[in-house]
Amino acid sequence: MNVLKDSESFIREIYRGKKDISLHEPYFSKEDISSVTSSIKSSYVSTYGKNVSKFEIKLQKYTNATDVVSTVNGTSALHLSLIMSGVKKNDFVISQAFNFVAAANCISYLLADPIFIDISPKTLSICPEKLKEFFDEHTVMNKFGTCLEKKSKRPIKALIVMHTYGHPALIDKIINICRKKNVKVIEDAAESLGTTYKNKHTGTFGNFGTLSFNGNKIITTGGGGALICKSKKAGTLSRHLSTTAKKNPLEFFHDAIGYNYRLPNLNASLGISQLKKIDKYISSKRKIANLYKDFYDGSDYLFFKEPPEARSNYWLNAILAPNIKERKRMINYLNKRKIYVRPAWSLMNALPMFKNCFPTDLTVSQNIWERLINLPSSPIIKKK
Ligand SMILES: *Cc1c(COP(=O)(O)O)cnc(C)c1O
Repeated sequence: MNVLKDSESFIREIYRGKKDISLHEPYFSKEDISSVTSSIKSSYVSTYGKNVSKFEIKLQKYTNATDVVSTVNGTSALHLSLIMSGVKKNDFVISQAFNFVAAANCISYLLADPIFIDISPKTLSICPEKLKEFFDEHTVMNKFGTCLEKKSKRPIKALIVMHTYGHPALIDKIINICRKKNVKVIEDAAESLGTTYKNKHTGTFGNFGTLSFNGNKIITTGGGGALICKSKKAGTLSRHLSTTAKKNPLEFFHDAIGYNYRLPNLNASLGISQLKKIDKYISSKRKIANLYKDFYDGSDYLFFKEPPEARSNYWLNAILAPNIKERKRMINYLNKRKIYVRPAWSLMNALPMFKNCFPTDLTVSQNIWERLINLPSSPIIKKK
C-alpha cells in the first residue's frame, strides 16, 4: 500500500463531495438557526435571559453532574477552576506538556507555575505511574497537610489532567494518588463532552471539570464553556465569581474580585439546540473512527483507540506515524491536496514562556509529539 496516496483517497471517500476537507467543522441544523433567531428577537442576548440557566441545567442532566456553571469559553472555566481550588501566587500546579496551551496559561494568570508530568502512551493523558514517582521523589507533606515541592517548599495545590482528543485519562487512578497528597483534581474535558469512563461522564470525577463549546468542539455555542462542580455550594460560588461577584444588583455591591465570565444568552440558545444532537454526533464519530481503524490496521501507522472501560466521543481521530520524518511527509502531502490534517500541539516545555519549567522526564510526550497526526473528524450528518 502507498500510505500517502491511499490515505488521500480513503479520506476523500469518507467525506465524499467535499473539495477542502477540514479537521473539524461544526454542523448547524434549521433548529439551531431558529433557536438563535428567537433569542435575538427576544432582545435578551447578553447575560440576562432564561437560556443560560436552561443550558446549564441541560448540561448538568446530560453529564449527571451536581452543578454546571456556563462560561464565555473553556479557558475562563479553567481559570475559575484554579481560583476555586485555592491556587495562589508561587504555588505549583501539575499538568501535562502534551496539551493545548490553555491550562498552562491559566496557571500563569494566577502567578503560579506548572509542573509537567509525562503522559501514558495508552491514553495520551497524565501517566499515573509517573505521577506517583514524582510525588515520591519530589514532594513532602507539611504539618498542615499541604503537599510541598521538596527543594523550594512551594505548595502543590492542584492538578489539571486533560482527556486528550476525547479519550478519557486513567482518572480514577490519578484521583486516588492526588487525594493522598491533598491535591485538587481538575479535569479539562474541553474535548471529551459525552465521553464516559466506567459509565461515568468525564469532567464529573474530579473536584472540577471544564468544557469548551468553541467552534471546533463536538458541540458549539460559537464561543463558550462550562465549569462542572462537585457540590451545589461550589457551583453557587463559581457562578457568583463569574458574574462580577455582585451581591446586591440594585446597589452594585460586589463582595470579591469577580470576573465577567458568564456565557451570553445568545450563545446559550445555540448550545441548547446543539446539545440535543450530541448523541447523533457521537455515533457518527464512532463510525468514522472505526473506518480509520480498519484502514490503518496492519500498516506502519498506529490508529489511536479508546482505552478499556471507556466509551470515547472520538472528537479528533489520531494516528501515530513511524517517526517524525514520515509524520511531516504525510502532513505536507495531505495539506497540499486540501486535506487539512495536523500535528499535535507543541509541547508546553518547548514554548518560550515555559522553557524554564520544573525539569521532569517527558520522553513519552516527546515521542508522541514527533509521530502524531490528527485526521479529519467532522461528524457526517445528512441534511433533511
Ligand atoms: C479547546 C480547548 C480548551 C479551551 O477552549 P476555549 O477556546 O477557551 O473555549 C482548553 N483545553 C483544551 C484541551 C482544548 O482543546
